[in-house]
Amino acid sequence: MAVYEGKWRCLRCAAVNRGRNLNCLSCGVKRSEDAQFFLEDDAPELNDEQLLQQARAGADWICLYCGTNCRAAEKQCSGCGGSRSAENRQLAEETRGVGDWTEAAQKATRIQNAAQHHAPPNAARKPFFSRRLIKFGLFSAGAVFAGFIALFAALVYISTLSYAVEMEVSGLEWKRTIALEEYKTVTETAWEGEVPPKARVQSSEDALHHTDKIATGTREVPETYTEQIASGTERYACGQTSKKNGYFEDKYCTRTTYRTVTKTRNRTETVYKDIPVYKTRYTYLIDKWIAAGEKTTSGTDFNPQWSSDFKADNVHLREAERTETYSLLCKELGGNNKLHKFEIAPEKWSKFQNGQHLRGKVDFFGDLISIDETSNGELKAEK
Ligand SMILES: [Zn+2]
Ligand SMILES: [Zn+2]
Repeated sequence: MAVYEGKWRCLRCAAVNRGRNLNCLSCGVKRSEDAQFFLEDDAPELNDEQLLQQARAGADWICLYCGTNCRAAEKQCSGCGGSRSAENRQLAEETRGVGDWTEAAQKATRIQNAAQHHAPPNAARKPFFSRRLIKFGLFSAGAVFAGFIALFAALVYISTLSYAVEMEVSGLEWKRTIALEEYKTVTETAWEGEVPPKARVQSSEDALHHTDKIATGTREVPETYTEQIASGTERYACGQTSKKNGYFEDKYCTRTTYRTVTKTRNRTETVYKDIPVYKTRYTYLIDKWIAAGEKTTSGTDFNPQWSSDFKADNVHLREAERTETYSLLCKELGGNNKLHKFEIAPEKWSKFQNGQHLRGKVDFFGDLISIDETSNGELKAEK
């Protein structure tokens, strides 16, 4: 069983001493019952026979008269010379889990109390710095967030700004389109059951319509898997016992060990077969209206026209749809001469005329937002 030398911290001057020391090497005060032993994680295993004997002798006893810790082997108190008797208490050994004896566990309670009277140990400063770092981080994040809010507010404000401008109508940009359809005989194909009533069937053939997946049976497929099997027991250090004399000893526990075994087994898998399904596909002729291009006219005057460059008899040729777009061209007055294009609804264009004066509003960047034509009320730009 491995034995280690622990350490203890002087309650008067906070100096750390080795387990073997009965007096503080820094201030000379005697180790008292209240001194807490601790074990550092990287403490080396003891090999020195004399120290091992000291460790195994047993826990310290406390002098009745002066409270000094005395070694188990000592018959007289090293502090006052008083003799050991049945009334002298012996410290009780104590066991904790692996790592639970580290100084960190001790630091939180006893050492911080001592720190109120002495200079704080180095280890106690670290959380102070990290707390300041967290505060600084939170402050920075808050500042960046406030910056974004301010920028957003500025953009919202700018978008609400508008300035009145005087304008003159300088033209109308128009475009009118007629979509045409012609009645023609076309060739089409369709599956059985989907051929339209007036179709004139020309030919038919059997063709692959789709494939069905059909389960035809099962088969066994071998596969490997792993299993954990108990293979025995092992002893391991599950804690450390403070001998209450400056030394510590490993405590051992036993546990089951396992090994990984690879095994094989059969898995049942369904087997499928692809079954092709054929259907009759018909090729037929049919008469129908189909798209036959567009007739578009456009200009920048106040005289929009629909194209008359076709003859719709509704037997061979017909109109399908009419679409029209209009934009008012306005010139800013007052020396700026900036040209604006303002899209308006088809029913509105005829209320304007060339050379007409208009008031309008432009935004922060000088783009036209709306026009105000007294008889029409205000028109807003479509964005
Ligand atoms: Zn001391
Ligand atoms: Zn004594």
